[in-house]
Amino acid sequence: MYPRSAAPRGRSPYSNGLYPPSPAPPYYDYNHQSMAAVNSFYAPGLERLPAYEWKPSPFPSPVLPPRTPTMTNGRKRQNDEYSPHVVKRQRLDSSPHPIIGSPVIQAPRPHRPGDAVAGSSRSSFDRSYPSSHSSPHPQVPAVPESSSSLRTYAKDKLSGQMVDLFEACQQQSSDLARKEMCRTQLQQDIQRVYAVGRLYLTGSSMNGLGCRSSDADLCLVLKGNKRQDPIHVLSVLQRLFKTLSYIERTQLIRAKVPILRFREKGSDLEFDLNVNNTVGIRNTFLLRSYAYADLRIRPMILVVKKWARHNQINDASKGTLSSYTLVLMVLHYLQTLKEPVLPSLQRDYPECFNPLMDIDIVPEGPKHIPSYFSRNQSSLGELLLGFLKYYATYFRWDKQVISIREARALPKSNSQEWRNKFICVEEPFERNNVARAVHEKIKFEAIKAQFVESSRILQQRKDLNSILPVRTIINKESSRR
Ligand code: ATP
Ligand code: MG
Repeated sequence: MYPRSAAPRGRSPYSNGLYPPSPAPPYYDYNHQSMAAVNSFYAPGLERLPAYEWKPSPFPSPVLPPRTPTMTNGRKRQNDEYSPHVVKRQRLDSSPHPIIGSPVIQAPRPHRPGDAVAGSSRSSFDRSYPSSHSSPHPQVPAVPESSSSLRTYAKDKLSGQMVDLFEACQQQSSDLARKEMCRTQLQQDIQRVYAVGRLYLTGSSMNGLGCRSSDADLCLVLKGNKRQDPIHVLSVLQRLFKTLSYIERTQLIRAKVPILRFREKGSDLEFDLNVNNTVGIRNTFLLRSYAYADLRIRPMILVVKKWARHNQINDASKGTLSSYTLVLMVLHYLQTLKEPVLPSLQRDYPECFNPLMDIDIVPEGPKHIPSYFSRNQSSLGELLLGFLKYYATYFRWDKQVISIREARALPKSNSQEWRNKFICVEEPFERNNVARAVHEKIKFEAIKAQFVESSRILQQRKDLNSILPVRTIINKESSRR
């Protein structure tokens, strides 16, 4: 969401023993955790692995080989077929056991008097069964992806390039481990000032849509009767952080959602910390559910983010699109194809994404969601071409509001939220406009022009290099430690 700078990288202060990596087991667990372990993930070491560990399925893999689409009229499906108002859903999972593995990510347990202090009790990790004080593990309609099954959607050159870019750039477990280590230490330090403070890693670091260079978004949740002024809290933290040896360059940004930005000392890892902006925790777990609902979602979104960044339309602080807005735009496109690649998870599983759900159990919300199979078996390249064409040609910016909550484009009403706004993208929980940063006509025109130009070029060349420098981006990302 915010601009990144490219500072020289250096050694992590942790490797100098400022606080050594914990000898804890490689799994962190919300429920059997210390207070420090709010986020959970698989961190086996520095090898390249998906960011999350999925419990092996006791049932046959739900990743079916691409089916021959059951088209009744026998015509070939066009990738750009979509209906902005009608979404057909396919629930093709006929498995009697629709629950197929859960991510190792669980709700943090509410703070209780006598809780162990950070880092002191991380034992007894149970990957299969719920703890006594929790409901069963959360479930995301996801499947462990493997490169080989992804390649079934990448038989053509363009799709293959997308997979290559995704594989080189996606966040790795070591990246997440580093963020988590810093979060753990920060939570301990923050609790010296705010004893009830609990720090959540949010955004792309946690939703499955991160790249190696993604920043780490943090939300400090301060519960209690007293309503805390975020600027005041962040000022207190800023003073605290100046005393911490592993943090540098703290900067208070007084935006609509104020944040404290800082870096891990001597590295390029940037953090954005907000206070009590808990919608970011809710939407992180919603996006995560979408990210893993189909193998194609994560590569598709990563490529779109890279494309937008390269073409300078991915910077909310400069009046263009935030990454979050871009992600919602991609999901909307995939939901509104004639053969949708995605459903509306909020509509189908309202209880899992209840906006009033206690924040502690939000990570458990997506449990029990069955896997989703789409009849749409378009390749990655077809989807990318379709996405660009949709926003270049079909989408009515002046008349429509993107709503992934409803899996359709809503007619733009005259309400304050949408009136006179160039781009309208509904936040799925708060229902406000996440694209409000685009408030200058010139920026709006530049964004539309980019869709038109890239759509035209890519349609002609079918080569990802024609719209972004693939090799340069891969080199840049893979040079990160
Ligand atoms: P990147 O990999 O580029 O950092 P990101 O997914 O972290 O992408 P950002 O735009 O940086 O995306 O936003 C970080 C997180 O903050 C989002 O994932 C979302 O959870 C939350 N967020 C951002 N903008 C909004 C908004 N307008 N309303 C609610 N939540 C938002
Ligand atoms: Mg981010």
